[in-house]
Amino acid sequence: MYTSLFSHPSCIEHDTGIGHPECPERLKAVLAALEGEAFHFLDRREAPRAEVEQLARVHPVAYIERVLASIPAEGHVELDNDTILSPSSGEAALRAAGAVCAAVDAVMTGEARNAFCATRPPGHHAEIAKAMGFCLFNNVAVGAEQARKVHGISRVAVIDFDVHHGNGTQDIFQNDPGLFYASIHQAPLYPGTGFVEERGVADNIVNVPLPAMSGSPEFRHAMSSRIFPALEHFLPELIMISAGFDAHTRDPLASLHLVDDDYVWVTRKLGEFAREYCGARIVSTLEGGYDIRALASSCAAHVQELMAA
Ligand SMILES: [Zn+2]
Repeated sequence: MYTSLFSHPSCIEHDTGIGHPECPERLKAVLAALEGEAFHFLDRREAPRAEVEQLARVHPVAYIERVLASIPAEGHVELDNDTILSPSSGEAALRAAGAVCAAVDAVMTGEARNAFCATRPPGHHAEIAKAMGFCLFNNVAVGAEQARKVHGISRVAVIDFDVHHGNGTQDIFQNDPGLFYASIHQAPLYPGTGFVEERGVADNIVNVPLPAMSGSPEFRHAMSSRIFPALEHFLPELIMISAGFDAHTRDPLASLHLVDDDYVWVTRKLGEFAREYCGARIVSTLEGGYDIRALASSCAAHVQELMAA
């Protein structure tokens, strides 16, 4: 069994306008990095569109329709200052959520050992009924519900190492004891949520804020002492990763100091955990990461480690 890679050309066509950090070049660089010799055995697949029925497990139908109706025929539309739509954005958003659903299907049926979704727009800031922070639909949450509703498992964990708190995923997960969300993020920073005290209905939310300038030692210590024990206690049947690479020291949007090897380390740890507790099942999806070179190298390191998991 191999690692599957899901993507779609529309995710590059999603145009956020000149100077926007969440730009098409991000995904182009990630996909180029995944063309190297080390990735010969990736099982490359085209991401399908998410069906409204799949999105509606997380988002109200009226919200889904409102987002899709906002897509402009030409030019740009702003849902907020950060969240910009272009004519291809609806297709990209459907493929980004559909990628995670298809990745969950592949991993849950044993077609793939694990999977990575190289897509945009990202998803972890999208709340139940609110697009924000470059995100339209909460891709990882839609995938978690695909696992529960279609594949009959009851416990799904999302580990989010993007430098920003995934307020959207927390919003969707916090009242559901079958869903676990752990986030390690810089604070204070956008979106201003993710306090330790936000713990969910069944201690199923774990937030680990790190102060600016934290680096590898603080990250690894926090993961080891706070997040891995809580994950072990939750006993997930599937591990999902909100894989943002903007905690990298080169990233322009934040001030943590992770390096590529930290992404190798955390992926290897999660791989070991998944092998021990949940049949090695991991579905990872791209969130942030805004230094193009750091994003490409750290994301490639992450996928390489998934392939070895
Ligand atoms: Zn981020």
